[in-house]
Amino acid sequence: MKIRDVRTTHVQVARRESLWSATHQYVHRTLRARSHRSALIVEVETDDGLVGVGQASISPGPAGTTQAVIEQELRPYLIGEDPSFIEGLWARMYRGTLQHGRRGIVIAAMSGVDIALWDLQGKALGQPIYKLLGAYRDRVDAYASAGWYAEGKTVDDLSSEVRALMEQGYRAVKIKIGALPVNEDLGRIRAAREGVGPSRALMVDANRSYDPKTALRMARRLEEFDVAFFEEPVSPDDPDGSAFVAAGTTIPIAGYETEVTRFGYRELIQRRAVDVVQPDVIWAGGISEARKIAEMASAWGLPYIPHSFGSPLTLVANLHLVASLDNGQSVEVDCTDNPLMDGLLLDCPTIGLDGQIPLPSGPGLGVELNRAFIEDYRVPG
Ligand code: MG
Repeated sequence: MKIRDVRTTHVQVARRESLWSATHQYVHRTLRARSHRSALIVEVETDDGLVGVGQASISPGPAGTTQAVIEQELRPYLIGEDPSFIEGLWARMYRGTLQHGRRGIVIAAMSGVDIALWDLQGKALGQPIYKLLGAYRDRVDAYASAGWYAEGKTVDDLSSEVRALMEQGYRAVKIKIGALPVNEDLGRIRAAREGVGPSRALMVDANRSYDPKTALRMARRLEEFDVAFFEEPVSPDDPDGSAFVAAGTTIPIAGYETEVTRFGYRELIQRRAVDVVQPDVIWAGGISEARKIAEMASAWGLPYIPHSFGSPLTLVANLHLVASLDNGQSVEVDCTDNPLMDGLLLDCPTIGLDGQIPLPSGPGLGVELNRAFIEDYRVPG
């Protein structure tokens, strides 16, 4: 079996309401102008007609740059090759693009290809990916990612939002912080804790908005609300700053979705900048690379809880890896207003009242793209 084609499809859907996090606090107008949700789908086709599906992160840039990397730069490493040599193809792509790769767009592009190769491998062998990886569990705890800032949204609205998520089955919810001064955000955190109740987990995500001392001040205030983790307090470019925060509080520091590859995570883990490890398979180098990161985390006794936001394909790809890990603790689910979550797949697995998502049992990722939805929302190339 040889690879015959590698192609991408950009899907974009208008969002119904405007939301923002701390990262975008100075560009609200820009964010609102770009009020849509996108996914870049990667397909790898073989000469016997099998098609593997993956997704590459395009956050937040235009899709065209990532599409060009996949279709023009990575494609030559793949065409005519045996798709089951996933590790070998990853190494060829990484080494071949090293001088302008190693991070960002090129690693995101490789991530999409890698996931598609794993989907292909599963389809070729008739097994779901999590079993090919050596399954650890077949259901994964899920947490709700919600509590964004929005125009006119009150603390009571936030409390109602998280309470409704608990009623859907979630045992844990994460809200955004960092776009307001610490004391104002504390009012939101108190309201979210009331909505979640005393026995379920509450997490917060600052999206890299604090300097280390402000982050530590916030972390110490979070202790009274029994916050399960504090995500991305500072920039991933300041692992020592993150380690300073982690050392000064009992709240576990989680991150960094914005870091990629085993080499980036080696720094975060060795410097004790994180207590919870959070790569996303669509950014960090695919399932192959994220597994290496997860195993490194395991050796340091750290839980693996991936970033997983924006599309159901991302969720499913991350779900398979988490289900294969002894330190795979839970997976993030985008619970914001996002039409992709309902539309992109015909059969996205959903959370049960036990707070867990069952793994799809079909081969590969075990899900099917909704081709009619994609045709309706495909951005012409
Ligand atoms: Mg985050």
